[in-house]
Amino acid sequence: MTEASADAAMFDPVAWRLTPQEAENAKTARELGENLFAGRAEKWDREAIFPTQNYDDMYKAGLLGICVPKENGGLGAGFRGYALAAAEIGRYCGATALTWNMHVSSTLWTGALADDLDLTQDERSRHNSTRKLHFKRIVEDGAIYSQPFSEGSAAAAGFQPFATTAVKVDGGYKISGKKIFASLAGHADYYGTLCTLHREGKPPSRGDTLYLAVPKEAEGLQIVGDWDPLGMRGTVSRTLLFDDVFVGDEEELMPQGVYFKAASSWPHMFLTLSPAYLGIAQAAFDFTIKYLRGEVPGMPPVKRRMYPTKQIAVAEMRVKLDAAKSLWFQTVSEARCKPSKDQVLRAYVTNHTIMETSCDICRLAIRTCGGQSMLKTLPLERLYRDSRCGSLMLPWTAELCLDRIGRESLYEPGEMDD
Ligand SMILES: Cc1cc2nc3c(=O)[nH]c(=O)nc-3n(C[C@H](O)[C@H](O)[C@H](O)COP(=O)(O)OP(=O)(O)OC[C@H]3O[C@@H](n4cnc5c(N)ncnc54)[C@H](O)[C@@H]3O)c2cc1C
Repeated sequence: MTEASADAAMFDPVAWRLTPQEAENAKTARELGENLFAGRAEKWDREAIFPTQNYDDMYKAGLLGICVPKENGGLGAGFRGYALAAAEIGRYCGATALTWNMHVSSTLWTGALADDLDLTQDERSRHNSTRKLHFKRIVEDGAIYSQPFSEGSAAAAGFQPFATTAVKVDGGYKISGKKIFASLAGHADYYGTLCTLHREGKPPSRGDTLYLAVPKEAEGLQIVGDWDPLGMRGTVSRTLLFDDVFVGDEEELMPQGVYFKAASSWPHMFLTLSPAYLGIAQAAFDFTIKYLRGEVPGMPPVKRRMYPTKQIAVAEMRVKLDAAKSLWFQTVSEARCKPSKDQVLRAYVTNHTIMETSCDICRLAIRTCGGQSMLKTLPLERLYRDSRCGSLMLPWTAELCLDRIGRESLYEPGEMDD
C-alpha cells in the first residue's frame, strides 16, 4: 500500500461519472505515481534506463494485469478504465506510462477487444485457450510483454505487410526480421511481435499478420544499437533482430488473421498511446500553478502569479487542457467494435489533439514559468522533451491523423475521382 495522494484526480469520479472500479484503479495509479514514480522519473531520464522498480510496484498493486479479465485473475478493466489509470501514471512518469501501454495493450487486445470480434468458432476456441497462458504468466509471475511492430517502413503505419516473417514449422513458427524502436528492449519477458505468415508462392498480405510472443531467451533473438534519444528516455526502445527464432504454437497472442480483424474493426486500439501524453499535459499545467504560486518544493517561495501575462498564459493552458481532456474522455468512452465513421474521425482528431496539445502546453509552461523552470533539477524540461515524442508514434502520428481526417471526410470507402 502507498500513501494517499495529495493531487486531485485528473478525472473526478463524480463529475465524470466513473464506475467505482475505474475510480479505484485510477486512484491506485495516482498514488503510486505521486508517492513513488515522480521522485524516480529523473533517474530513468538522465540515465536512459528502464523503470524496473516502477514495474515491481505496479505488479504488487495488480496493475500489470489491469486489463486481464477477472476470470483469469486480473482486474478486468476495459478500454476506458485502462486509459484513465494510464493518464494518471503519465502525469508522474511518461516513460513508465508509455511502456506500460505496450504491456497492457497486449492484454487488452487479446482480452476485451478480441471478445468483441466476429471470430469463427475455431478461432475463438483457439484464442481462448492460448491467451490463458499469457494471462497466467502476467498475473502469477509478473511477466512483462512489449509490442515491437515498427520496422522503419510503411508497415507500422498500416500501409503494407510487415517485412518480419514467420514460417510455419512443426509445433510453431520460425521468425526472421528486424524491429526498430522496440520499447522495453532488454526488459520485457516476451516481445509481442507482429509479423507476416510466409505462404509459399503467395505475396505477403496484411491479412496474414501474426502476433507472436517471443520469449526473451529465445535462440536467435538479439538486441542491438544504443538508446540516447531526446525524450521518453526510460523506454529503452532499441532494435531487435530475429534470426530464425523458433517459438511454439502456444506463443500465438492472436490466431492467424485475428490481428488484422482487430485493427480493422477496433481502430481505437491505436489510441492507447494517448493517455501517457495527456498525463504529461496535466503535469505541466499542475507544475505551472505550483511554480507561479511559489509552492514548488525546494524552490524559494517566490510568487509570480500577480502578473497579468502569467494569468493569461495559465488561462490559455487551462483552455487547451480542458478542451483536450473533454474530447479525450468522450472518445475513450465511445471506443467500441465497428465504430461509426464519425467516431473513427473523432478518434483521429483526439489522438492528434492530445499529442499536439501535450507538447504545446509544455511549451507554454516553460515560457510562462521562465528560465529557472527549465533546469534539470525540475521536471518541466523532461515533460517538454517527453511530450515531443507523442506526435511521432505510428500508426497514428499527428501527420497521419490529419491525412486520414482530410481524406476520410472527403471520400467514402471505395470512392475515387475520375
Ligand atoms: C519514445 C518512443 C517509443 C517507441 N516505442 C515503440 C514500440 O514500443 N514499438 C514500436 O513498434 N514502435 C515504437 N516506436 C516507434 C514509433 O511508433 C514509430 O514507428 C517511429 O517513431 C517511426 O519513426 P520513423 O522515423 O521510422 O518514421 P517514418 O516511417 O520514416 O515516418 C516519418 C513520418 O512520416 C509520416 N509518414 C509515415 N508513413 C507515411 C505515409 N505512408 N504517408 C504519409 N506520411 C507518412 C509520419 O508522420 C511519420 O511520423 C516508438 C517511438 C518513440 C519515439
